[in-house]
Amino acid sequence: MVEQRLLHIDGQDVAASDGATFLVRNPATGEALYEVAHGTAEDVDRAVAAARAAFDDGRWRHIAPRERARTLNRAAALLAERIEEFARMETLQIGRPLREMRAQLKRLPEWLEYFGAVAQTTEGSSPDFGAGHLNVVRRVPLGVAGLITPWNHPLLITMKKLSVAVAAGNSVVIKPSELGPIVPMELVLLLEEAGLPAGVVNIVPGLGRTTGKALSEHPGLAKLDITGGTETGKVIAANAGRSLIPVTAELGGKAPVLIFDDADTDQAVAGALFAAFVATGQTCVQGARILVQRDSYERVVTALVERTRQLKLGDPLDSQTQVGPLVSEAQRDKAADAVERARKQGATVLTGGAVPTGAGLSQGWFYEPTVVAGVTPEMDLWYEEVFGPVIVVAPFDDEADAVAQANDSPFGLAASIWTQNVGRAVRVSRGLDIGIVWVNDHHRIDPSSPWGGFKESGIGSENGLDAFHAYTRPQSLIINSSDAEFDWFATVEDLRYS
Ligand code: NDP
Repeated sequence: MVEQRLLHIDGQDVAASDGATFLVRNPATGEALYEVAHGTAEDVDRAVAAARAAFDDGRWRHIAPRERARTLNRAAALLAERIEEFARMETLQIGRPLREMRAQLKRLPEWLEYFGAVAQTTEGSSPDFGAGHLNVVRRVPLGVAGLITPWNHPLLITMKKLSVAVAAGNSVVIKPSELGPIVPMELVLLLEEAGLPAGVVNIVPGLGRTTGKALSEHPGLAKLDITGGTETGKVIAANAGRSLIPVTAELGGKAPVLIFDDADTDQAVAGALFAAFVATGQTCVQGARILVQRDSYERVVTALVERTRQLKLGDPLDSQTQVGPLVSEAQRDKAADAVERARKQGATVLTGGAVPTGAGLSQGWFYEPTVVAGVTPEMDLWYEEVFGPVIVVAPFDDEADAVAQANDSPFGLAASIWTQNVGRAVRVSRGLDIGIVWVNDHHRIDPSSPWGGFKESGIGSENGLDAFHAYTRPQSLIINSSDAEFDWFATVEDLRYS
């Protein structure tokens, strides 16, 4: 039985203006799960108008930040009660193992709590304007933000953007990924249940090339916040640029994992395996290039390949499954094509490199976890983001070589350094042209910690105070505190007017 889902605009569930819909399928079986209204440009326009009306009449932004924080805390509590239900819904739509979705979603109430706390503790400033004036600078919300989100962490990424946007007093229109829109839609209903006024958050699912395009071209936005591929980010940022709309963009990556000779090998291998294959490799910070210092290369790669072979593929709802299917046939074909090209260009597949044939794997978009050696910068696989369970292993000589290889990428999103030498970790991190660097860890995230890439990995960051600032702007209030009279044209004295 295929469930129907509608757009949510101004607190109402509504059909698309032309009645169009699209199907959301289970990638483990191909079965249709939901039939979802497909928002048109007219629907996007209605959603932006509703968000603007909610912003202009102050139904949310003029509520004291401490009250806004109370609403967000109520939403956090409601969300905490629904983690299991939402985790299952995410797993059914995107195929990530239930264990992963539970672990990820359990943390999401923290974003509502954190940004609620930031909203109520953020203070303005009072610059020295001279004796005759008092200058008060307040941070005020921007207006209507457009949020465009991907499928790989449907709720996490929606939450990262939404929590800060509404905590700061903005209104939003969300365009979730067509592959995983349902839980972000549930989040909007949950926020309204917690007391968020109708119209503040609107959600218009649909395809990127239609609904997403309409949102990114809408001149009524005050900000556009996108997570997606680098090419999508460039198109969207160009659209926004035509209306001088500021953009935050979290884009692609090809994260290096640097394993030094002095690392704890077991921990480094476990870390590399996690970095490489969690989410079936479909994360922006996937450890896609495992760079190992030459003396320990054979030992580390042998252990990594052995553990990769043991990973259990299967039904993502089964708690024993470690690696699920890819999200779609297209994504699976992209992974297979990247491996075939690497083979033709002279690389060696150490394990994986095929569509698995085991029981229960024939229906979904599965691909074997794959480790490829002998990849050089002349080959596509060194640079391209596969966004699947395919990684490269390569040796390096010393710190300088590790840094040079790590930086040899159009991306600069994330890296991890595995070493027992603290000084080395600091030295190497200083050389990396990369936004997020973990030491003896990978893929750790916190609402308070900036998350953003350098180079082609994006513009700006999510999380933390920087993100809050990027959802507000300073308004300068200059109060005349002098009782001296001022009449420029009634006198010839040299008064100061500026
Ligand atoms: P896409 O770039 O395909 O899509 C991202 C979003 O943009 C989706 O909602 C998509 O809609 C929409 N979109 C696509 N084309 C357009 C367009 N022309 N105009 C407006 N909107 C458009 O990315 P994926 O969803 O495949 O996500 C994977 C990518 O996201 C990877 O490159 C990954 O590295 C990156 N990512 C980055 C993160 C970071 O923090 N830096 C975190 C997670 C992912 P639709 O899905 O309906 O096509």
